[in-house]
Amino acid sequence: MSLHKLTLHELKEKFTKGEVTARDIVSAYSLRINQVEPKVKAYITLVKESAMAQAEALDQKLKTWRRTMPLMGMPLAIKDNICTEGVLTTCASRILGAFVPPYDATVIARLRGQGYLLLGKTNLDEFAMGSSTENSGFGPSRNPWNLSRVPGGSSGGSAAAVAADECVAALGSDTGGSIRQPAACCGVVGLKPTYGRVSRSGLVAFASSLDQIGPITKDVTDAAMLLNVIAGHDPLDSTSADVPVPDYTKALKKKDVKKLKIGLPKEYFAEGLDQEVEQAVREAAGELKKLGGEIKDVALPTTGAAIAAYYLIATAEASSNLARYDGVKYGLRSKQTKDLLEMYMKTRQEGFGPEVKRRIMLGTYALSAGYYEAYYGKAQAVRTLIRRDFEAAFQEVDLLVTPVMPTPAFKLGEKIQDPLQMYLSDIYTISANLAGIPAISVPCGYSKAGLPIGLQILGRPFEEETLLRGAHAYEQATGWRAKRPNIR
Ligand code: GLN
Repeated sequence: MSLHKLTLHELKEKFTKGEVTARDIVSAYSLRINQVEPKVKAYITLVKESAMAQAEALDQKLKTWRRTMPLMGMPLAIKDNICTEGVLTTCASRILGAFVPPYDATVIARLRGQGYLLLGKTNLDEFAMGSSTENSGFGPSRNPWNLSRVPGGSSGGSAAAVAADECVAALGSDTGGSIRQPAACCGVVGLKPTYGRVSRSGLVAFASSLDQIGPITKDVTDAAMLLNVIAGHDPLDSTSADVPVPDYTKALKKKDVKKLKIGLPKEYFAEGLDQEVEQAVREAAGELKKLGGEIKDVALPTTGAAIAAYYLIATAEASSNLARYDGVKYGLRSKQTKDLLEMYMKTRQEGFGPEVKRRIMLGTYALSAGYYEAYYGKAQAVRTLIRRDFEAAFQEVDLLVTPVMPTPAFKLGEKIQDPLQMYLSDIYTISANLAGIPAISVPCGYSKAGLPIGLQILGRPFEEETLLRGAHAYEQATGWRAKRPNIR
């Protein structure tokens, strides 16, 4: 079997046994990237040569190291809004087009500590603002299942790279669905951890109270393996939680979901949900029942206000976070301007794309004197109600299952002229960010047109173990992963 088709845990096992070298692994991925990357366009920057140099160095090291370091020799792709020392980190924005960070994000330092190999930095919607990767300042990525479709977003490059076997696993970031939604579109697994579970230090901020880094992988076991490495308290991030990190791989050993109470929120099965998606998700709930889960209907009454609240809070925070790109402190600076003010203005005008500008304006407006209470204040109040809805639901059930996206992956260009339509594709994912709870997307079928459909499972804060256990039991019982995209 070709190495690039293996999951992280399968590849790691072969490596640990000494059946393959790190060099073999990087060669296999380089070949694969050369074959499919011109079509998929998952990466902004590739560093195959440095991965190969590191691989050769690793192969010289003692064999026992292979066993002790969980990611040794494993080639990963990293979303291009996560800082990597010495490697371009653009956020898919022209304003950071030449930005080379002088330090690693905490997650990267942790991956490095476990021997991972960086293959490259993946494409995204500029500053992670979008649901299709079309807002990238460097052109869109494509869905490996159908190249005329979007890979989802904003971590579309990471999801496409995993689905197209252009890396063994990847990291993404999720502010309102950007890990789960592209994972669903590309038929892979995407996990958004509880807010505070994974350090945000070195993740370029979009909306700080919502952003979380998480794994995008070929299966649930791989997601658990990566979470084991990246989770945990970090003094460099004041919002990171000082709570114990369990062994997530162990949690998977309990394969069944017996006695778990699983809720179906009725507000998530309403108008606008594609029939094929609804059917696949309901069948998945049926499968969980067969596995011993108890299915219950639950209510999340504030769901209808989530999009409005999110697009006020996220844009407000973004307008503040993106104020730092002024041509002085970071990145691009417009030349030949007559004074400082013009330099600020031209830099931002030339450096940011249309969606980022739209959000900065929206957020600035929502925060301005006189409107603050009516917009931002109100949105925060709604956020509290959404969190309480989940708290109430989790009194009754252990997990919730819902769709990830209202439809399978849409066509490139279909929604780009209509931002509101684009925003609506986040309807099922943003509430988890507003409430800070963990959620995972796992494949649960295919549309008639052959496009993947995702199942979302949500859990209580810091109970990623239960989430992974449910997702793993479902995955093992169904085997959707056997089907792979045929990239043409
Ligand atoms: N699609 C949402 C947005 O455009 C979420 C993006 C994200 O999670 N980074 O804001």
